[in-house]
Amino acid sequence: MPFKTLGLADDLVKGILATGYTAPTEIQSRAIPIALSGKDIIGTAQTGTGKTAAFVLPILHRLDQRTEAQKREHHIRALILTPTRELAQQIEDSISTYGRFLHPRTLAIYGGTNMHNQLRHLHRGVDIVIATPGRLLDHLQRKSLNLSKIEVLVLDEADRMFDMGFIQDVRRIVSYVPRERQTLMFSATISKPVRELMSAIQKHPTLIEIGEQRTPIQSVSQHFFSAPQERKLELLLHMLDTQKMESVLVFSRTKHGADKISHRLERRGIKSVAIHSNRTQAQRQRALAGFKQGNYRVLVATDVAARGIDVDGISHVVNYDIPSFPEDYIHRIGRTGRAAATGDAITFVGRDELKHLKKLEHFTSRRYKLKKFPGFDYSKVEKAHPPSQSTHPHVHDRPGQHHRSERRRFEHQGPSRRSGQPHGHHAGGKPRQQRPQQTHGFASSYPRRQHTEVKPTHVTAPPRQNQDWRKLLGEFVDKFAGKKKKFKRPKND
Ligand code: AMP
Repeated sequence: MPFKTLGLADDLVKGILATGYTAPTEIQSRAIPIALSGKDIIGTAQTGTGKTAAFVLPILHRLDQRTEAQKREHHIRALILTPTRELAQQIEDSISTYGRFLHPRTLAIYGGTNMHNQLRHLHRGVDIVIATPGRLLDHLQRKSLNLSKIEVLVLDEADRMFDMGFIQDVRRIVSYVPRERQTLMFSATISKPVRELMSAIQKHPTLIEIGEQRTPIQSVSQHFFSAPQERKLELLLHMLDTQKMESVLVFSRTKHGADKISHRLERRGIKSVAIHSNRTQAQRQRALAGFKQGNYRVLVATDVAARGIDVDGISHVVNYDIPSFPEDYIHRIGRTGRAAATGDAITFVGRDELKHLKKLEHFTSRRYKLKKFPGFDYSKVEKAHPPSQSTHPHVHDRPGQHHRSERRRFEHQGPSRRSGQPHGHHAGGKPRQQRPQQTHGFASSYPRRQHTEVKPTHVTAPPRQNQDWRKLLGEFVDKFAGKKKKFKRPKND
């Protein structure tokens, strides 16, 4: 089905075609006609399915339908709420890219940027605001922004906003928006609290489910490898040395871990860079741009920092630590295999992480085979990396132990700088490159039906007295406090 048949304005279709898209993705072809009819939507599309355009295009169409007099007025007519500033920037980029012939006035509002500049923009008049909840509330409290003319409200990645503790902020923001409006909600997964929020703020929404919300995207092959915690780095290096892994995104549960992994790779001559919430916005953008351009083979990221990563052609996602929450696994591996390209997702599973694997199996209703990585000597006792060198989290780095202000800090860091790049890799309106099907590297190099055993037999724990006191304290916290917090989500990366 071509874009033309969706009922979008001609100038908008021109903009989409100039971006290089030839046909709508499934979420776009199903959601756009409903959104154009003015109905509310709950879209459970996974990341990488093209959901941004599914809500951006109907908003742009609505703006195009204004009379000439209305076009000169510039009230905020659409508000898009999103959990991270990277996503806010990306959505703003998408709007400029698709709406290049409509010239909408947009403003991305998030922490860390100069309030004065935002006020200046608001004063000049804006049509679409894309915002993270924290800074938007600051504006509302200062009365520097008026949401009383909003026609369309979008909640993007609502599940993540809930995870990050923004749901109360979202409720407060919604109270500033007129009741007569269209509300579009998109989320990779829909938990009970998110569903409750939606029933409170939407009217008879149409549910559009793309794929099963619990299944990772089809184009990603998933592999699970047994990996003793203290030898994970060695295993990663072994894979990078022996496999054709060109553009690799490694996930670390902690900021500290991300830095360590990246430094160790660099020391081995593998071009690598880390992004997490302790990096300034400018540093993160430089790192991402470098990764996109191929200057780095490996990007190491924490979950929250990776949320807005939209890089075409990531060949491998490596979960250095298996995430404790299955939803994070789905989000992580959705960074590869985007828009139908193929990718491999590799997950390292330590002995103490088997419970997370079980949780993931339960969540996705699938059984995963835990294998040993071929050619890696599991019998070797690791002496090269004593515990102080390991990427095991320090106590202060543990997820779930951050104060809310820490989480906000993520929103409030560093100067903002628009990348100047259109959405994804479509600079200059070039069509996206589909990654060719892999015929070498991971997909074909796995032995079938071997090494299903979980426990590495000859690995001995390092002597107790050599362990870093912070690690010991961490274990203590895990053992005694961890049980109570079992189902509490980490509030920061
Ligand atoms: P999203 O799920 O919105 O983050 O989009 C994932 C990726 O798919 C982005 O790189 C988009 O540029 C790309 N994309 C979105 N819509 C299309 C389309 N109709 N055809 C090809 N690529 C698309």
